[in-house]
Amino acid sequence: MEYKFNFDGKEYILGEDNLEYFVNDENEELNGIELNKILELLSNSDEVDFQNSYYESCCSNCKAGKEEKKKVFDFLEYYFYVYGKNNNFVTSSIDQDYDKKSFTRLNREGIVDKCYMVTVMVCKNCSTYAIEIEEFEV
Ligand SMILES: [Zn+2]
Repeated sequence: MEYKFNFDGKEYILGEDNLEYFVNDENEELNGIELNKILELLSNSDEVDFQNSYYESCCSNCKAGKEEKKKVFDFLEYYFYVYGKNNNFVTSSIDQDYDKKSFTRLNREGIVDKCYMVTVMVCKNCSTYAIEIEEFEV
């Protein structure tokens, strides 16, 4: 599974080879949401919109900007939400399941009980990327 997108005329491909790390919530891991599932959610959505983002640490792979002694480093970032019940993945904020109902609504209907934020961070230079999933207090 790969996810491709264009930004500033450059193509970025997120796959297994250039994944730097994948972190699932340290306290209560959400099950059923591994790398391929994230890439599939991104691929199937037309809402994905990466933005420029500046981090204090450089990319561990290419170290772009380090030699120039930059204070911040260029990344692309996108985040969305995934919802779970009993620690199992149910749906996300970017797919069409459940008619795009909000977390609050799905929670009230008993379909989900927990919300997680998924952050995708991509090195603007070499496409090395990382994914973090963290519980999000709604
Ligand atoms: Zn890089």
